[in-house]
Amino acid sequence: MLLKDKKIMVCGIANHRSIAYAVARFCSEQGAQLCITYQNERLYKNAVKLGEGLGDPLLLPCDVTNDEEVAALFAEVEKAWGRLDGLVHSIAFANADDLKGDFVDTSLDGFLLAQNISAYSLTALARGARGLMKDGGSIICMTYLGGERVVRNYNVMGVAKASLDMSAKYLAAGLGPEGIRVNIVSPGPIKTLAASGVGGFKSILDNVKEMNPLRRNVSQEDVAKVSAFLLSDLSSGVTGETIHVDAGYHILGM
Ligand code: NAD
Repeated sequence: MLLKDKKIMVCGIANHRSIAYAVARFCSEQGAQLCITYQNERLYKNAVKLGEGLGDPLLLPCDVTNDEEVAALFAEVEKAWGRLDGLVHSIAFANADDLKGDFVDTSLDGFLLAQNISAYSLTALARGARGLMKDGGSIICMTYLGGERVVRNYNVMGVAKASLDMSAKYLAAGLGPEGIRVNIVSPGPIKTLAASGVGGFKSILDNVKEMNPLRRNVSQEDVAKVSAFLLSDLSSGVTGETIHVDAGYHILGM
């Protein structure tokens, strides 16, 4: 019961394959009370169904591009719980056209869209969470190696992940004095809805599996366990850190 009595908001559940869903499930098993958000009406039914296995979570809408919805989300959590201990940001989006071909062809609109949804939203959600993390708290987000190094076709999302990574570090520095920790999880490739938008994703999965030290792809559950550690008091002295959950792929020099 690593997270007994912790109140944790999980943003980014689209379906049963979502990394956020595995994180929510594991957190619930570890005793956390959950608030899960859904992006839009289209995903509402999924959220209701998946929420059934998560111990009666608060279920609230949140499109991160909608400032009013973000404000309403935290107002509802304040009303229901009066506090928040953890926030999971597991959200990303870019136009499919920007996830293949040459990065040099990225449009300003496509660039700003990816930055807004995939990077700036962490700061917007952290600002909302801050007011509720009265006794400190833990915020985590999901990045990818393509934000540190060039990964074929990751393009505009790689730049958004670099921005997300540095946002998390500035947030860690700014919110640290209030006892709020901000950390970054960097999963290896996992077959999900978002990942399927990246050109040639299947070959990335195969290459990574063949080359990484553990010779396997990681699972949503691998990511969930590290996420729960970062959300728990076991990581009380850790902030501004990036943990790669990628079977060691990031240490390779080729
Ligand atoms: P996913 O498609 O299941 O999750 C992405 C989520 O982003 C969805 O729930 C979607 O509703 C949400 N989202 C998109 N636009 C939004 C908006 N405007 N407002 C609110 N929510 C919005 O895919 P996933 O792979 O579970 O992705 C979760 C996170 O993990 C992302 O940040 C992704 O970049 C990261 N990640 C994924 C992999 C991988 O290989 N799957 C690897 C490393 C990092």
